[in-house]
Amino acid sequence: MTTFEIIKERVTVPRAAAYYGITSRNGMCCCFEHNDKHPSMKLYEKNYHCFGCGAHGDVIALVASILGVSMIEAAKRINADFGLGLDMDKPISRSDIIMIHRKRQEEQDYIEWENHAFNVLSEYHKLLLEWRSNAPESADDIPDKHFVESINTLDYCEYIFDSFLNGNKEERLLMKREVECFEQRIYAYRRECITCVAGGKGKDKRTAVFL
Ligand SMILES: [Zn+2]
Repeated sequence: MTTFEIIKERVTVPRAAAYYGITSRNGMCCCFEHNDKHPSMKLYEKNYHCFGCGAHGDVIALVASILGVSMIEAAKRINADFGLGLDMDKPISRSDIIMIHRKRQEEQDYIEWENHAFNVLSEYHKLLLEWRSNAPESADDIPDKHFVESINTLDYCEYIFDSFLNGNKEERLLMKREVECFEQRIYAYRRECITCVAGGKGKDKRTAVFL
């Protein structure tokens, strides 16, 4: 186990946050990385996440951010302030450096995916709402296929979107398949729009049910 891993194992995010003066209520606090008027940051045991600016990290990143110091300095402060007794003066090992880079890359990849997933969910949700206006005017009309998709999928999309907004990192990652599926629907719709414009068809042209 690396020094960083030992620190993260032994000091939780809420404990360090409280120690360095962050007040929280039900695990929520004001973000220290943007000008936050209402608590938009959630403190989990192993990491923190801001729903306002997307700031995200572990206990060492938290202390580095609050104190405005490097990750190494933050690790040293935690070691001293929480009496962990780790030898922090020996040079950082190669495996520690590799681990830090790997973790940073993983965090970055996750944040990129999270932003992308949020955009996909909000765009698909918006489309489903828009498609409600394509309702057939009479019982004899063939229903527009996007209207049918909206009827079939809007509730489910809202459930996934809601779970995403209220979930933690692990819970969000479980929604990868749904996000990919919604993304494919958006792409399919965009392709149709391009074909429609190229074919000179009107926007209101009704298309047959595809389900
Ligand atoms: Zn923030």
